[in-house]
Amino acid sequence: PIDANKNNSLEINIIITFTNADNNQNLQNKLRVMLSSLFSHASVPLALHFIGEEKSQGIAEIILRDIASNATFKIVKLDVNKLAQELHTIVEPMQKHFSSKPGSYYSHSFFFLSVAMHKVMPTTMHRAIMLDADLKFTDDIKKLYDRFRLFKKDNVIGIARELQPVYRHTFSLYRTEHPGTRVGEPGPDGLTGFNSGVLLLDLEAMRKSDLYNSMLQAKAVELLTEEFHFKGHLGDQDLFTLINMKYEWLFHILPCIWNRQLCTWWKDHGYADIFDHYYTCEGDVKIWHGNCNTPIP
Ligand code: UDP
Ligand code: MN
Repeated sequence: PIDANKNNSLEINIIITFTNADNNQNLQNKLRVMLSSLFSHASVPLALHFIGEEKSQGIAEIILRDIASNATFKIVKLDVNKLAQELHTIVEPMQKHFSSKPGSYYSHSFFFLSVAMHKVMPTTMHRAIMLDADLKFTDDIKKLYDRFRLFKKDNVIGIARELQPVYRHTFSLYRTEHPGTRVGEPGPDGLTGFNSGVLLLDLEAMRKSDLYNSMLQAKAVELLTEEFHFKGHLGDQDLFTLINMKYEWLFHILPCIWNRQLCTWWKDHGYADIFDHYYTCEGDVKIWHGNCNTPIP
């Protein structure tokens, strides 16, 4: 329910990656659920930035026009290949550490664009919320946006914990070498690792942070992966996770209710005994995340 007279100076920038959607009904359905739930609870105008190739952008626009009225949104199309090209020198060195498809580096570079979004968005854009397509809102995105106000001085990104023991697994060698470490432990005190389905990007803070930008350098990524014996396949969230192990203060931790992931794959793959320490999420869920194709209730 949008009140046109209220809050109209505030428009929330939302960035959504939507690629290879042609002939992918499953992905199209996810976007439809995401957008209609987003709009049915949003109290402020939204500027939607779709990162994709032309075909997918056309599909996104049709879905959007179908579910939202013109007054409540603005649509911006960003060419995924152009962005990937612009960010090539930053993203390419990450792919060998954080991608499972070493043969198709370029086509998967869209999984890494969030890490350097501050370099491609206009400097007039100070903040943005980046969202997966497989989400469902049950509350107003304005409340999520308001969490930017809780950022501490050095925070550049707001992100929720990963709700499976993925990183307990990935860091297993480091954990064996460092008994008692917080690395890979569950919340509230552990360095659990992150899930990048919902991201609060303080683009201005990202631009200004020398530390954050130094972590995007190929050499820094190399050193971090060596120090933690890290080999991942989850793209941007692997990098955020790894940086967090050393520089906790760069991140604002979002409560799990803002990214309630539903995937339970790791429960049946060796981690049944400790699974619930990661997966449990108390409180009223505001964003469901049907990751690994899990149906949303
Ligand atoms: N995505 C896309 N096209 C694809 C695969 C992924 O646009 O072919 C985008 C989409 O926004 C999706 C996000 O990338 O939500 C991350 O992928 P996904 O949600 O499937 O990963 P998961 O959350 O299951 O790990
Ligand atoms: Mn997802």
